[in-house]
Amino acid sequence: MVHLRRKIISLASVINQQQQNVRWSSSLKVKDENSVPHVSPKRDSFKYADLSVRFANPHELRPKPATNQLSFGKHFTDHMLKIHYYEALGGWQAPEIMPFENIVLHPAAKVLHYAVELFEGMKAYRGVDGKIRLFRPELNMERMNNSAVRSGLPVFRGDELIKCLTRLINIDQEWVPHSTSSSLYVRPTYIGIEPTLGVGVTDSALLYAILTPVGSYFANSGHNGVSLLADPKYIRAWPGGCGNSKLGSNYGPTIQVQQEAADKGLHQVLWLYGEDHQLTEVGTMNIFMVYINDDGKKELITPPLNGLILPGVVRNSLLAISREWNQYDVSERTITMAEVIQLLSENRVLEMFGAGTACVVSPISYIQFIDQGLHIPTLEQPEPIHEMLKKHLLDIQYGVIPDHPWSLTVQ
Ligand SMILES: *Cc1c(COP(=O)(O)O)cnc(C)c1O
Repeated sequence: MVHLRRKIISLASVINQQQQNVRWSSSLKVKDENSVPHVSPKRDSFKYADLSVRFANPHELRPKPATNQLSFGKHFTDHMLKIHYYEALGGWQAPEIMPFENIVLHPAAKVLHYAVELFEGMKAYRGVDGKIRLFRPELNMERMNNSAVRSGLPVFRGDELIKCLTRLINIDQEWVPHSTSSSLYVRPTYIGIEPTLGVGVTDSALLYAILTPVGSYFANSGHNGVSLLADPKYIRAWPGGCGNSKLGSNYGPTIQVQQEAADKGLHQVLWLYGEDHQLTEVGTMNIFMVYINDDGKKELITPPLNGLILPGVVRNSLLAISREWNQYDVSERTITMAEVIQLLSENRVLEMFGAGTACVVSPISYIQFIDQGLHIPTLEQPEPIHEMLKKHLLDIQYGVIPDHPWSLTVQ
């Protein structure tokens, strides 16, 4: 029976038919489940061992863009990964790697109405030794499962997805740029696809991953530091909300604010929260400040994971590296605009920067806060901490430090 089931599921046309069944099953759930003889108990996860691969034909292979012409997320590789979940078929289905293609959705699919969507962002780096590495992918898997729980989507085993992603990257390995200023961005995406309009838990889902070679996130602004719009009338995340999950619904509403910043000639948005104007994040990066504390010592601070902050892999790594170095104080605590302004007036702010996978470490040089323009002297420091941290991180990611425990070698 298991054999027969596998065979059935491997046929795309039958899957489509099953999708139809799933469509009707929502109103007939109990009857349906009892009447379908081959339904097995729900599987807790898909398995890498069940992965099938269908290679693109040579004529389907896409031209690779020149490394110096990469913009963020514009060119995609030849293959993708897809994993379906159908409650009516017993849960998780076998993972499939296939030529990159459009996905077809029912117009009532929950993702299209209620934004049942989450994603991850990680990178595959081609090291100085030619090996391809991932950086702490298990943290992305943990975060992805947390986002899934918040979205009512089924969880899965992170190590199984890492193995599937590794295989995908391996197949498209020529797309990993031969350059230490570029990388292959990996975008796992997870959507609810049940074709019913009820605002409820989806009974079917699609987890897929696409790959895109990327250069520098900020095409031409990174070197002079980024300038920020800090307008307290916009709020990205709030207590009890889901700002600490990577849900697509957190980002769509930020685009207009980002546009407003751009219209004012500023690069990014500094997201504030509360009456006391707490600094939370910069665009899609975690924020850090280096300053002289009340004891006269250098201190690196970043806001705590209080529900308003996306738990960044880079954030976690910079804190861990800093604590290990033990050359300056490190703390996770709330930072307010009043404090920044006070410290600036005492010349005690040394550096501010954003940190995340896409842009690594991004120095901040200016904040427009209501009607005040604040110059941040990040780029004027003789031995900036953000530069030391960035170098160390890149040395791990690009294999200059070859066998670091945070590296997972793909190939
Ligand atoms: C993805 C993201 C980050 C950075 O997370 P990393 O895991 O370090 O890439 C920070 N803030 C927001 C809002 C994000 O979406």
